[in-house]
Amino acid sequence: MIPVTKPFLPPQQEYQDLLDGIWQRQWLTNMGPLANELEEKLQKHLSVSNTLFVTNGTIALQMALKALNITGEVITTPFSFIATTSSIVWEGCTPVFVDIDAQSLNIDADKIEAAITSKTQAILATHVYGNPCDVEKIQQIADKHNLKVIYDAAHAFGVKVHGRSIFEYGDISTCSLHATKLYHSIEGGLIMAKDETIFKKLKSMRNFGFAGSEAFDELGINGKNSEFHAAMGLTNLNYVDKIHQKRKALTEAYDKGLTGFTAYKPQWHSKATLNYAYYPIILKNEEMLLKTLKKLKENNIQARRYFYPSLANSVPYLRTQSFKVADAIAKRVVCLPLYYDLDEGEVEKIIGLIN
Ligand SMILES: *Cc1c(COP(=O)(O)O)cnc(C)c1O
Repeated sequence: MIPVTKPFLPPQQEYQDLLDGIWQRQWLTNMGPLANELEEKLQKHLSVSNTLFVTNGTIALQMALKALNITGEVITTPFSFIATTSSIVWEGCTPVFVDIDAQSLNIDADKIEAAITSKTQAILATHVYGNPCDVEKIQQIADKHNLKVIYDAAHAFGVKVHGRSIFEYGDISTCSLHATKLYHSIEGGLIMAKDETIFKKLKSMRNFGFAGSEAFDELGINGKNSEFHAAMGLTNLNYVDKIHQKRKALTEAYDKGLTGFTAYKPQWHSKATLNYAYYPIILKNEEMLLKTLKKLKENNIQARRYFYPSLANSVPYLRTQSFKVADAIAKRVVCLPLYYDLDEGEVEKIIGLIN
């Protein structure tokens, strides 16, 4: 079977070597030496500052909303993973969906202003498949209306836009280091904050709101991550360049082979680097998509309707809404297998079946 994704695993011995240190120190979690080392190394690798390693990408989103004191309406995208929407609702805020752009598949910045009300406090947008949103336009709108900007950058590890890390945009950016993501620590997440005060607040919030060991300065939660997860993150960090190269080669093979067919691919931000996190294609219609999935399945190949359905018409705790572009794209988009262990022969087979 060819799955749609397979988590990267480093040579076992390299992970084991870091575990030896954990056994010697008997320090398993709570901002241990490996977690701190991972934060430092990631900041260097990504050229970012104010970075926290947290439990997962979802809690990173929840902490972001909490740290910015968001309690009202949050403008967001219906075309994302459920965590983008659920974290807004979980924090007691109200998601206000805005349709997406048919080329980038990100929130359509030109439609944001029409959705702003007196209760709007923030924009929470996803860099879908790692493709940067129109970060400049979104910031202009936010400045004009005094709104906070949070980016769900769960897919965007390693992407640069206008020569800077994508994680530098917005008041807060979050990333997921889940096993299925491009770069992972089994479970894990990152939060990057622009403002030093917000960063300190997030740091305290991650650890129950403790100020020292006998006082509290924030409403906090347990957003810490363990030494075992940090060890996986540190080991995998030695392989990110190799992973990047391999995914690039596979992506180029798909691009080359899929030329003759009538689907299209999202248009990447013209000032951004690629991270090859996913290989989405948009078929002509849903019938073609179902036919394609069936054909692949018959050949033991798994592709994933990601994201489907649209978040605006599928979650039971929100009223159902339709959005022209998001609904149409969600019905027609599919992500093809893309992972480190996939080989070019397998990609050729997938191309042949689709064509
Ligand atoms: C994976 C993902 C998340 C959630 O991250 P976890 O680490 O699994 O909690 C949030 N948003 C998007 C867009 C994702 O793909």
